[in-house]
Amino acid sequence: MDKPNWGTARMLDPFGRRISYLRVSVTDRCDLRCVYCMAEDMTFLPKAEVLTLEELDRLCGAFIDLGVERIRLTGGEPLVRKGVLSLFRSLGARIGAGGLQELTVTTNGTQLAGMAEPLFAAGVRRINVSLDTLDPATFKAVTRWGDLPRVLDGIFAAKAAGLAVKINAVALKGVNEHAYDRMLGWCGEHGFDLTLIETMPMGEISGDRTDQYLPLSTVHARLSEHWTLTPSAHRTGGPARYFTVEETGRRLGFITPLSHNFCESCNRVRLTCTGTLYMCLGQEDAADLRRPLRDPTLDRAGLDAAIRAAIARKPKGHDFVIARAAPPAVPRHMSMTGG
Ligand code: SAM
Ligand code: SF4
Repeated sequence: MDKPNWGTARMLDPFGRRISYLRVSVTDRCDLRCVYCMAEDMTFLPKAEVLTLEELDRLCGAFIDLGVERIRLTGGEPLVRKGVLSLFRSLGARIGAGGLQELTVTTNGTQLAGMAEPLFAAGVRRINVSLDTLDPATFKAVTRWGDLPRVLDGIFAAKAAGLAVKINAVALKGVNEHAYDRMLGWCGEHGFDLTLIETMPMGEISGDRTDQYLPLSTVHARLSEHWTLTPSAHRTGGPARYFTVEETGRRLGFITPLSHNFCESCNRVRLTCTGTLYMCLGQEDAADLRRPLRDPTLDRAGLDAAIRAAIARKPKGHDFVIARAAPPAVPRHMSMTGG
């Protein structure tokens, strides 16, 4: 494949930030119902509205040619989408000089036992697995439908397949807030990094989010009593700040969208499975890329122009606030844009 011309191809937003990272939610469906993410009785999109895997591949290809170097497939649960490995394979084939640098996935781990090896074969080298606790009863309570041993099997299959594993845990007041010491030790033992995430006000859920919100400054202070956490220079352009856990040598990340502003270094945009591009996780403005993608009168230049026009509208930052009785900052659920 021809090397794109970076001089004209790379995408800069109005604030001079280079857009090099695309997150793609390949499905809004999921086999779990985590309490902070979904209501139990979710209504999912009709299939006709969802892009085919071939369409998603074409759209991702356009982004790669416009300078996107990292793609993360997420969801919903990306690994429950039928045939999704074909998308991993076609995107994986674009990894190389001048094209895609990295293809990753965020998963709940339920399907990993059977899919870890094919993911590695497709070119995936790192995965994020969401796991909020190592206690089976708490895991069931948080995910409503989840089975912890199955997810642990998946995580160890991933490790055995050669995938680097990062565990993501959402910090939930009164639910898993005393689980992190054990998780940090467990991650150290098995060679996994750990990232803790503050809850974000996205989508209607059953409870009140102020009851779930646990500031990570509190968690950091508590963990520092037992672990030596040295600030790390590691940055991803995202909202995480990292520490090295000296006792294990592993990395500990804190994602604090509510208590810190991370927007100035933002390098990413998010695509939903319907072809809607969100330029910011915390804003409503979005661009419909399905129409230009499916429009038979538009050529590839038309699609590129639609993508560039969207990037030109990327806002400076988000407006997340968690306040009692406030409506969600954005009405869509995290499962639409995939976090
Ligand atoms: N199903 C996959 C998973 O759980 O890893 C991928 C999609 S999930 C929406 C991506 C990440 O978003 C997960 O780590 C999940 O814990 C996190 N998440 C979901 N809803 C959230 C919320 N309201 N606040 C903070 N993180 C959230
Ligand atoms: Fe599903 Fe992931 Fe949302 Fe949990 S966080 S309900 S696993 S999409």
